[in-house]
Amino acid sequence: MKLTNANWLIKKKEGLYCIPGDFYIDPLYPVKKALITHAHTDHARPNNHFILGTKETIEIMKIRYAKSYCTNYQVINYNSPLTINNIDITFVPAGHILGSSQILIKYNGCRVLISGDYKRVEDKTCKSYQNKKCDIFITEATFGLPIFSHPFDKDEIKKLLESVIKNNEKPHLIGVYALGKCQRILSLLRDAGYDETIYLHGALMKITDYYVSEGLRIGKVKNASELNLSELKNQIILCPPSALHDKWSRKFKNPIKGIVSGWMNIRQRIKQKNIQLPLIISDHADWNDILLTTKENNPEKVLVTHGREEALVFQLNKLGYDAKALNLLGYEDEYE
Ligand SMILES: [Zn+2]
Ligand SMILES: [Zn+2]
Repeated sequence: MKLTNANWLIKKKEGLYCIPGDFYIDPLYPVKKALITHAHTDHARPNNHFILGTKETIEIMKIRYAKSYCTNYQVINYNSPLTINNIDITFVPAGHILGSSQILIKYNGCRVLISGDYKRVEDKTCKSYQNKKCDIFITEATFGLPIFSHPFDKDEIKKLLESVIKNNEKPHLIGVYALGKCQRILSLLRDAGYDETIYLHGALMKITDYYVSEGLRIGKVKNASELNLSELKNQIILCPPSALHDKWSRKFKNPIKGIVSGWMNIRQRIKQKNIQLPLIISDHADWNDILLTTKENNPEKVLVTHGREEALVFQLNKLGYDAKALNLLGYEDEYE
């Protein structure tokens, strides 16, 4: 598929490909040269030959994939343009997770902005989102439906803390994605004044340690394996969402189970996952923020990817943009 005004950027089975630069953006399969927007596993995959990304993205890939994180890499700083074969490339903060970037590509007088995953809501665990004027805006649409209007994160944290006070004999098992969400919840809990020890499932430790080494303050945090089960009361224990229903969770008697996710907006999902405490905190832009971002970026053309494309394409066309679905497959934001 050719993208109008930029026939040098095409869609291949590996993902978005820039012909004159001979590189891919967030490829699904190993390639020779890849620009990586951020370290979530659906965007940053192992075994590429050469990757370009922010320092944090590359370090997290190293933590997750060990030797297979890539053969070679180049660290890119935010807002410092580099050139590959006459193409100007700039990584711009996306506000999604630590190290996350949008990628602005300029070639032949055409500016294409690839959003990656992004959010505009302030988040102390990563650099804030920045907007960029462009001619073609490729936006994610994970929450690209009008029903998605994310509540304030602080209000959701309040719900958790109220439940901890109200149910003072019950441990709170809270499902959070290991990269980004976990650390954001820790940071929000501390900002809300919660100063008890917070316990983490072992699978959340490594990435959290990395955030701490990069300067994030999360107060007293311990591995949940250190928790004395006879002293169990209303502790907050963070774990991967999948652990809520496996053997690990059964050692906690009578827990309150919660999940933190933008998807907790959907009643059916709450029921399906048997969740008493749904907390709607998302690391993606909601419907209004996608529309606001498009307006600020002022593109001629918008390409909508990984998410509910149809409604957004319809709305953008109604607002006068030339919008189309890009239908890039393989990007799942199930545990966002
Ligand atoms: Zn992501
Ligand atoms: Zn994504």
